[in-house]
Amino acid sequence: MVIAIDGPSGVGKSTVTRRLATVMGLEFLDTGATYRAATIAALRTGADLTDEDTVLAAVTASEIAYADGTILLDGESVAEEVRSDAVTKNASAVSAFPRVREHVVEMQRRWVSDRGGSAVVEGRDIGTVVFPDAPVKIFLTADPEVRAARRAGDAEAAHQAVSDIVADLNRRDHADSTRKTSPLRPAADSVEVNTSEMGIEEVVLEILEVVADRFEQGRL
Ligand code: C5P
Repeated sequence: MVIAIDGPSGVGKSTVTRRLATVMGLEFLDTGATYRAATIAALRTGADLTDEDTVLAAVTASEIAYADGTILLDGESVAEEVRSDAVTKNASAVSAFPRVREHVVEMQRRWVSDRGGSAVVEGRDIGTVVFPDAPVKIFLTADPEVRAARRAGDAEAAHQAVSDIVADLNRRDHADSTRKTSPLRPAADSVEVNTSEMGIEEVVLEILEVVADRFEQGRL
């Protein structure tokens, strides 16, 4: 069973996903980290990031893996590097290329199938594209000022001015929502949860209620 957790950045996706996975005894996959690792692969080869062929060649020549919550590129942890400004700035451009997405999505589906088909998977297009048959689809949202404040609290953004964080969120939202391939949008059958005034445990409980509901409907 796949539990799909989608939504923009700053809505609490990663924290909620990790907590939910622990509570349910499942592994979790952070698909944003896989696109960030693909971005590192492209940056390392000095690829022209506006050219899909060059980026794709760099990405397919590397091995992206995810193990126990750690993202690996060619067997080495890039957990810190994926959070760097350069990667955050360029990840939306790299992930907008359809053939790069195809390659990365294949890795994501394989990862879940290697785990017997059950995991909590977070991203932007999990419920719409990667696992359209997931029985539980959650779309997290939060008010813009709450998202900016949460991002400001993240270590990777701690050195940035709030106005820069807001600008970065807006830029990424725009790029992710308007791209042609797999734009960020809620799946028709997703449950939207606005986390602005909720704590982590509250959000997790709400998702567990959706899980229980699907179970009662015989969908799990
Ligand atoms: O979630 P995170 O902020 O780490 O994602 C980094 C970028 O990767 C996003 O801004 C988005 O462009 C891309 N992404 C995506 N599809 C996903 C997950 C992330 O396009 N499923």
